[in-house]
Parts: sequence; structure tokens; C-alpha cells
Amino acid sequence: MILPAPGPAESWGRVVRASSRRLAPQFRDEVARGLAAARDAGVSTLGVGLGRSYGDSGLNSDQAVIDARHLDRLISFDPDAGVLRAEAGASLGALAQVLAPRGFFLPTVPGTRFVTLGGAVANDVHGKNHERAGTFGANVRRIGLRRSDGVVEIAPGDDLFAATIGGLGLTGFIEWVEIGVTRIPSTLIDQETIPFDDLDAFFAIAAESKARFEHTVAWVDCTQGGKSIGRGVFTRGVWAPDGGFAPHTDRALPVPIEAPSFALNPLTLKAFNVAYDAAQRLKAGTARVHYTGHFWPLDSLFGWNKLYGPKGFYQYQCVLPWATGRDGVAEMLRRIARSGEGSFLAVLKTFGDRPSPGMLSFPMPGTTLALDFRNRGAATMKLLAALDDIVREAGGRLYPAKDGRMPAAMFRAGYPALDRFATFVDPAFSSDFWRRITA
Ligand SMILES: Cc1cc2nc3c(=O)[nH]c(=O)nc-3n(C[C@H](O)[C@H](O)[C@H](O)COP(=O)(O)OP(=O)(O)OC[C@H]3O[C@@H](n4cnc5c(N)ncnc54)[C@H](O)[C@@H]3O)c2cc1C
Repeated sequence: MILPAPGPAESWGRVVRASSRRLAPQFRDEVARGLAAARDAGVSTLGVGLGRSYGDSGLNSDQAVIDARHLDRLISFDPDAGVLRAEAGASLGALAQVLAPRGFFLPTVPGTRFVTLGGAVANDVHGKNHERAGTFGANVRRIGLRRSDGVVEIAPGDDLFAATIGGLGLTGFIEWVEIGVTRIPSTLIDQETIPFDDLDAFFAIAAESKARFEHTVAWVDCTQGGKSIGRGVFTRGVWAPDGGFAPHTDRALPVPIEAPSFALNPLTLKAFNVAYDAAQRLKAGTARVHYTGHFWPLDSLFGWNKLYGPKGFYQYQCVLPWATGRDGVAEMLRRIARSGEGSFLAVLKTFGDRPSPGMLSFPMPGTTLALDFRNRGAATMKLLAALDDIVREAGGRLYPAKDGRMPAAMFRAGYPALDRFATFVDPAFSSDFWRRITA
């Protein structure tokens, strides 16, 4: 196999751009030849999926990447045991389309269906039901991992398994994944939308939702200061007891042009947040909706990341432990409101107590806040550094899937198993994120 010439690559936030030599194997047995070609050319490699990570964890500048997206076959499905095995390039959306008509669903899904199985494992992604299901990796039974010295099958209990779950693609190329799937009574969700006026109300609704609602998430208006800090809208849902098993379709409205960088400014951000808040408050109450609208509302706007203009945007997601979560989130929201930077999509959620299986898994019990910031250069970096201080002080950490700039010391402080993890990194694999964080 010959390595193709370098071509451009960018991640979802479009701030970090790279040029790399992209291999796109059609069959699993070609992966070994791809690895050999990279070795012969003297470059490292990295498995990549659908590029939905925001920063540099899915980039490997001036080196090689192995694009998994053609390795998307379903290998087996046992409905009695509720176990599915598929190649790592299969998207969660495509798998949902196979499972839903049969009365099954993935145990947890992130906020977009355009994520591969390999990407879901390598970032140990979480969904709206973390309290019940834990992370994606908590439901994985076996993995076929191609290392530079051959293929290994790994399972819970193996150290290499714990390194590979949330291992950012650095322990080898994931060829296939076996996962436990969940029976569902229908493909509809009984959803409640509840406006709230401040952070204390958010925490009260979150606590009260635990027993009855599997899926919970909230949007907060981060342009609000003073008494309205943390004002937002809480959404919670459970699978509806009936309503049939229609899967989702792949309709999405394209975002045809790249928005000019002046399109988003403090005024339009404020206006958007006020309008969104009002629209959500109008929807307050209960509704029966299809799972796609509940889990993946952003997917209906294909390519929405271009709305932030040519300079792209940073996503910032942290988790703070229970003890410091409320005050830490309040402090961050105050700091953001003061900066006038704002974020269209500020998402607030709680994580449950189920331990994450990966050495570098992001979720821990507590509160997670995710925000988007248009890239305004030094001003944005200054704000993000101030947020870092709050997160560090609160004993929290940042999510590598969303990161393209956190200082190495911040990563080390948040991930105490880093040194142990490093012993499982395959020397043939690397990424921009890894070189930055270990420099
Ligand atoms: C709109 C949106 C909403 C999101 N919501 C959530 C959310 O709710 N929860 C959450 O946890 N995340 C969320 N994310 C982040 C997303 O789930 C992760 O970044 C996910 O890992 C992306 O998967 P991907 O297939 O695009 O992989 P990529 O972004 O291409 O790669 C991600 C990582 O996986 C590795 N990788 C990919 N394939 C392989 C393979 N075959 N073998 C080895 N390594 C591999 C890469 O090296 C990289 O480190 C969201 C992202 C978007 C854009």
C-alpha cells in the first residue's frame, strides 16, 4: 500500500488545521498494510472517524491517518443476548437505523449521530443518560485492536482495554467493537421541557429527575449576569411505552455558506440567547417526540460548525466534582457574562456515579458544562485561560474531545493516570493532541 500525498484536514471546531496523508482502507486486512506503509515512510499514524472532535485529538499533522469510515460493516447481532459487533467505522446513526426497527437502541449516544464506533470508544463518549448507563465504554464487551505488532482482542479487566477506552486512538487502530445494546419499548421519547430561573433551580430539577427520567440535559443562557445567572431550560425524557419502531431518516438542512466572522458578535449572541430562551419557554410542557429530535437536535442543521465563520470556534467542556460544581459553574458563567463573549450553545448536565472504565475517560461524578466560543484570537484565549483557573481550583478537568489548546499541566492535573496510560501507547501511533500534551 502506498501512502497518498498530504492533504488538508480540519477538526469540527475549524480552529486547528492540519495536513496529513490519509489512508482509507476498504477492508480490515488492509489496515496492517497501511500501518506498514506509514512505518516504511517513517511517519506515525492515527485512526480517525467522522471528524466530530473539536480540537486536535483526531489530527496528525505531517504524518498519516487511517480513516475508518469505509470499515462500517455489521459483523453480528444477537437479539437474545442483546449484543452487537460491528466494524469501528460504522456510525452510531447507521447502527441506530439497524437496531431501532428491531426494538433495540445503543446504550448511550452523544449529541450527534455522526460519530463512529471507534470514535465513541476512543473518547469514551457520554450521553444524556450518564446517570443510568454510564459512558459508552462501560457498555463495551470486546474490542479488536490492531497494534503495530499484530491484532489483539481485549475485554473489560485487561489493562490494555482500560487504556483503549478513552485512549484517544493512541493504543492502536480499533478494527471492531462489540457492545451490549438496550431493549426499547418504542422509538419515541416522552419529553418534558422545564424553564428554570437560576442555578439552584437547575440542581433541584436535576435531583428530582433522577428517579423517573433516563435522559436529562439543560441549556443555559450564558449572557445573563446578576440574579439570572444560570437561567435556562431543562429537558428530560423517557422512552415512550408505545408508538412503534420507526427509525430516523437522514434528512438535514445544509448550512450552504460559511458565515462571515462579523455575523456573531456580543449583540447577535445576546439576541440569539434571548430569542432561544423565549422559544424554549413557549415549548414548556410535555411532548412525545422521535428519538432523533431528543438526542440529536443539531444534526438537523448539517455543517452548523460553519456558522462561526472562517476562523472557527473553540468548544470548552469541563466537569467539576459535586462539592465544587455549583459555585464553580456560577463563577464560570459570571466570568463569561462579563467578557461579553457568550456562547450559542451552553449545555449543563450532571454525571452519575457509575465509574468510567478508561484510564483517560473524561466523565466523573459531578456537573459538566459545555460552551462554544467563536475564535477571536487573544481575547478568546484569555477568557479560556480564566475558565481553566476556575476548573483547576474546583478540582475539575477538561474533555480532550473538545479541546485544541489546554496547557499540558492542565491535562496532567486532571488525568492522574496519564503516566500509566503512556506505557500502553503504541509507538507507531501519535496525534497533534498527544504531542502537544506531552511536549
Ligand atoms: C454536535 C456534536 C455533539 C457532540 N456531543 C457529544 C456528547 O454529547 N458527548 C460526548 O461525549 N461527545 C460529544 N461530541 C464529541 C464526539 O462524540 C466525539 O468527539 C467523538 O469521539 C467523535 O467521533 P468521530 O467518529 O468523529 O471520531 P474523530 O473525531 O475522527 O476521532 C476522535 C478520536 O477517536 C480516535 N479514533 C477514531 N476512530 C478510531 C479507530 N478506528 N481506532 C482508533 N482510534 C480511533 C481518533 O484518533 C481521535 O482520538 C459531540 C460532537 C459534536 C460535533
